[in-house]
Amino acid sequence: MFVNPHIAGLPGSYLFQEIDSRVEAFLKTHKGRPVLRLGIGDVTRPLPKFIAEKFAQAALNMATQEGFKGYPPGRGYPFLIKKILKNDYLDRGIALDEDEIFISDGAKTDAAAIQELFSSSARIAFTDPVYPVYVDSNAMAGRLGEYDGKRWAGAQYLPTTEENGFIPPLPSKNVDVLYLCYPNNPTGTVLTKEQLKKYVDWAKENDALIVFDAAYKAFISDDNIPRSIYEVEGAKDVAIECCSFSKTAGFTGVRCAYTVIPKSVLGLGKDKQKHSLNKMWARRIGSKSNGVSYPVQVAAAAVYEDEGKRAIEENIAYYMENANILKAALNDCNIKYFGGEHAPYIWLKAPNQFDSWGFFDYLLNTCQIVGTPGVGFGPSGENYFRLTAFGERKNAEEAAKRIRDTFKEA
Ligand code: PLP
Repeated sequence: MFVNPHIAGLPGSYLFQEIDSRVEAFLKTHKGRPVLRLGIGDVTRPLPKFIAEKFAQAALNMATQEGFKGYPPGRGYPFLIKKILKNDYLDRGIALDEDEIFISDGAKTDAAAIQELFSSSARIAFTDPVYPVYVDSNAMAGRLGEYDGKRWAGAQYLPTTEENGFIPPLPSKNVDVLYLCYPNNPTGTVLTKEQLKKYVDWAKENDALIVFDAAYKAFISDDNIPRSIYEVEGAKDVAIECCSFSKTAGFTGVRCAYTVIPKSVLGLGKDKQKHSLNKMWARRIGSKSNGVSYPVQVAAAAVYEDEGKRAIEENIAYYMENANILKAALNDCNIKYFGGEHAPYIWLKAPNQFDSWGFFDYLLNTCQIVGTPGVGFGPSGENYFRLTAFGERKNAEEAAKRIRDTFKEA
């Protein structure tokens, strides 16, 4: 049999492999203080007890005849969908229907699978730097052409850098799908409603679709920054939104997320008819998924109870205090950075003309801090570097101290 050439030919997951191998090589000779890992994009705080108890109780209920559950509904249990609808949309003035929300095991799962709804010739644009899932999933489907070691020839890269204030340029007219992620991974930057509206208007004018990844929306601390693309007028006709409990509620190991596909989002078929992406996604789920487990969905629903809300807010505040500690050190050292205000990521400009990997090595050798080289997220990430606010407080404090000791001018 012949294999899928687009997967067989995909470049390796170079970034994290390369980070691991450089850290491993360093540790072989390094005998001093411990290495601080500020490269991860994973949460570190334990699950709130209130939520874990609901999770455990739901699992125990499965051991009773009355509480036992078989296959869950493919699109999710109504008790969870209703909570999402009310708390994340209706209470914020966004009208949606229950059947426009689909529960899944991850925003990564959905952001990667959504491209199955697009034609094989759909033309794709994404920001540069970018969360790699949008790129890889389209590359695996054979939509991006050849890779030259830096870029895919068939994709449109929208440079998102200090020069344009981290506001990506509009894609050209011939693009069919634009992926946006706000608050952004990796830059930690956000867009205002007015800024976001430009992409919605572009999508309307060009019959294009926006896939909006809002996995970090819980970190937004300013009501003027949209938590959902549907806060922008007209977005319900052109946008799909992927959300997750992973970063909101520490569910990276529990696995629960949801995707919103309004019924008004349509695409053109070969038959020249308009097709509902909502219907197509429901049809796809019916064939490809048996849903998300009952205890997981009960745990996710607990996130919306008062005690759950309080607990997750505390965890988010904890991470954002880590960000404040790191930012204060960068300020003291005159190192330029972006983000870290409505997102757990700080995107810093490597000082002293370092490129991304040069700064990685320097930081590892002098401060024993591991971060993520920006160029690993796309060519426009060159000279940038990502630090994460996930992690223990004492590590953030120690990292801040080491940064000051090394970079602060006397
Ligand atoms: N979307 C973005 C932008 C992310 O950075 C991540 C994880 O790092 C995800 C989605 C993954 O979400 P999930 O854990 O729900 O699959």
